[in-house]
Formats: sequence, structure tokens, C-alpha cells
Amino acid sequence: MSTSFRATLFSVVSCLLLAAVSPCLAQGGAPDQPSITVRGQTYTPRSILARNMGTAEDQTTAFPPHKIVGNVYYVGTRTLTSFLITTPQGHILINSTYERNVRTIEKSVTQLGFKFSDIRILLATHAHDDHQEGDALLKELTGAQVMVMQEDVAALQGLKPGGKAHPIDRVLHDGEEVTLGGTTLVAHLTPGHTHGATTWTMKAADGGRTYNVVFATSYRSPTTVSPDVENEFNRTFKFIRTLPCDVPLGDHAAQYNLNEKYARLKPGAPNPFVDPANCWAEAEIQEAMLRATIQLQQKAGRP
Ligand SMILES: [Zn+2]
Repeated sequence: MSTSFRATLFSVVSCLLLAAVSPCLAQGGAPDQPSITVRGQTYTPRSILARNMGTAEDQTTAFPPHKIVGNVYYVGTRTLTSFLITTPQGHILINSTYERNVRTIEKSVTQLGFKFSDIRILLATHAHDDHQEGDALLKELTGAQVMVMQEDVAALQGLKPGGKAHPIDRVLHDGEEVTLGGTTLVAHLTPGHTHGATTWTMKAADGGRTYNVVFATSYRSPTTVSPDVENEFNRTFKFIRTLPCDVPLGDHAAQYNLNEKYARLKPGAPNPFVDPANCWAEAEIQEAMLRATIQLQQKAGRP
């Protein structure tokens, strides 16, 4: 089998496997364009989706849980990230991912020596099933308060695994803070991928220094960009670059090169997750893709 045939087959098979993921269906059958090159790497809409999701196994297999910086830990799967922020008054979790991953996240939390039942607050990056489908089950198991951005509420109301209503205990607005046990997270509305897509920031203390941690949401544009969504992204891409950032993270592992960074995690070595030079690398890719997508649309005669 040739490499290119294998790649095509992989993309077709992963699209079928990902039938539950709406962006995949939306792109099914359409030509895989535009193609953009950023920092020497070429991307297409399908290559970005394949990079984000991996295989069905990647989506549900735990990545080795590990400390990122200070009180921030990784408890997600190989491609879908979940972050645990520990405090003396209980913990905060960002992204429950799919409902079928909740028990996997629980195992990772336990493996790190923390109690799953100590999760008090559940946050998220955006209202898609691969990041928030597990919210109801996670709340049922831990009693955590589910806090969501106002602009994502409507989308979340449609996210009902097994018919369970999506839990919402607090509705957040742009710039609001969530505080627990001395740690404060700030919710920044960074719409485009969804109307309520949220980028979270916090400060983490580690080894006598304080680091600005950025939990980025997805900035991936839809196949067809409406003027409203274009305006949302214009604001988002301008705004995020104003955030102080030392430790860039993302809601898919590939958005911050988790594999490559984890491989460099060694006692005594510099922390690979401290990577200010690449804070906006993912935004650069997604912004280039957005502009190229809009150009294609205009060529095709969008008003
Ligand atoms: Zn998404």
C-alpha cells in the first residue's frame, strides 16, 4: 500500500469512525481544501482534524498522567485533553471529554495520588461532545459544580448523552473569575469555533517562579465561515495574543505538541511545557486556515 493511499484510507476510515463528530460529517465528501503552510508544515482541514482526534483508540486511551507545572496536571487521553488543577479546598477539572472517558479520567486522577471525589468545579473549553459530553456523568460521580460560558449554553442544552440534561450550575461571562483554594482561573470569551468557546488563564507557582498558564480552546474554523463567525474570529485572534503566556496548553494534545514535550520531561531538565515561543503557534495555523477558507469562499462567489 502506498503511503499516500494509506493516508487517504486513514482519513476516510477516521472520518467514518468519527461519524458522531459533526465537523467531520460537514467536511465529508467535500474537497480537502484549502491547504496552508505555517512554519514549514502544510495543513488541510482534514489533516488538522486527523491530528486533533487521532484514532478512536487515541480518543479513549489515557495518556500517562503527569504534572505540567505547579498545581496543574494532565489527566486526559492521547488526543483529548483534561486538566486537573489541585487546591487545598478540592480540585478543578477542565474538560470531561466524551462520557465514555470519565472513568479513564478518574483512574488518571487516582494514579496521580488525588481523589476524584475532591473535584469541586468542572469547567470546559467549548460545547462540543469531545470536550463536554461527560459533564453530566462527572457531576453525578463527584458532585462538582458545572460552570459554562453564557454564549455556549444553547449548544450545551443539545448535548444530552443518554437523554440526560446537561448540568449547568453557574453561567459565566467574559472576564469572570473562578476561585478555589487560592487558585483563580479567568474565563476569556474567545468565540469562533463555538459562540462560547472559552480560553482559560491562571498563574501557577513552581520552583519560586510564577508562570502564566493558558488553556486554549480550539480556534479551528468551520468549513463555511459566515460573516458573524468571521467577526468572532477577528476579535479572538487579536485578543488572545494580548494574554500573558508562559505555558501554552490546548483542548487537543496536538495543539501544544504534548507527545514531543512529554518525551522531554526529565528530572533536572528544563520544564518542556514552559514554552513562551510557541504560545500562539496554534493560533497562527488556525488564523491562516481561516483566511484561506474565506478567500476560497470569495472566489466561489460569497456575497
Ligand atoms: Zn470542537
